[in-house]
Amino acid sequence: MIEIENVVKAYSGTRAVDGVSLVVEPHSICALVGTSGSGKTTLLRMVNRLVEPSAGDIRVDGRSIRSVPAYELRRHMGYVIQGNGLFPHWTIAQNVGTVPRLLGWSKGKIASRVDELLALFQLDPELFRDRMPHQLSGGQRQRVGVARALAAEPDILLMDEPFGALDPVTRSKAQEDLALIQSKFGTTIMLVTHDMEEAIQLGDRIAVMDKGKLLQCEPPAEIIANPATDYVRDLVGTTDRAFRLLSLSRLADHVEPGTAEGDAFNAGMTLRNAYSELLWARRSAAPVEQNGKIIGVITLERLGALAARP
Ligand code: ADP
Ligand code: MG
Repeated sequence: MIEIENVVKAYSGTRAVDGVSLVVEPHSICALVGTSGSGKTTLLRMVNRLVEPSAGDIRVDGRSIRSVPAYELRRHMGYVIQGNGLFPHWTIAQNVGTVPRLLGWSKGKIASRVDELLALFQLDPELFRDRMPHQLSGGQRQRVGVARALAAEPDILLMDEPFGALDPVTRSKAQEDLALIQSKFGTTIMLVTHDMEEAIQLGDRIAVMDKGKLLQCEPPAEIIANPATDYVRDLVGTTDRAFRLLSLSRLADHVEPGTAEGDAFNAGMTLRNAYSELLWARRSAAPVEQNGKIIGVITLERLGALAARP
């Protein structure tokens, strides 16, 4: 758990972070959003003490970060910076093994952890472990950057716009990977992003910052339905909010008894995609299947009702 309490960072009179209090629950993802210059990076870097707060305190699992030497703290927190920050003259294996080496793991243990992580990120270890970063695509380098941050099995992962430079397809793949890995390891994640879509998809909570202040920190559905200020409402966007709400839930949770004609939709499909598919195919309903069994039906009417302001 990360507890940020009344934290301030002042630079020659101006406050980059201005009295922020925020709790990130264990095993959850907190997405930090806000326009450029709102203090997101500064807040994130105070958690691993790359920036020292001017006032306030931050506790990790109940312990003030001031009571832990900074190098020690960072070894237990993964950090992914924008543009991945790989060492260009090190192989992929050396890059991923950076922190385990610092921690004095044996060669064999490092090698097997590196291979495990590469495989997890769909990079065949045989093909990739001895390559140099420039021999990888941008998306692959990004995945190596996240793999490196996870190498020593940190409880906490800090990510600063990790997917910002990726094309939309690679980006959504990277987001899926992250969601999967987070649920596998139960890592607590603070993720800075300027992409509201990404925040809604990945965040258990979204923290909205403006001019150094925290305006709202709540689950995505709550932020969409009840934005605390005009600024938050503008950030969430009004034209898309019905669809954004639909993108938060999956068919499994909204299937109704009954049946319908035609191809079945998978229960893991988001409501948004189901709505789009029905409209596209001029269908008013579809059966829903889970593990090869029809479990009920979803109708256009029901989806329309679920898209309405709660
Ligand atoms: P964000 O990540 O939301 O874009 P930052 O945390 O990088 O915002 O910056 C917040 C504000 O603090 C900006 O106005 C920035 O210019 C200022 N700032 C950040 N780092 C420093 C620094 N080292 N010295 C002076 N001002 C800084
Ligand atoms: Mg930033």
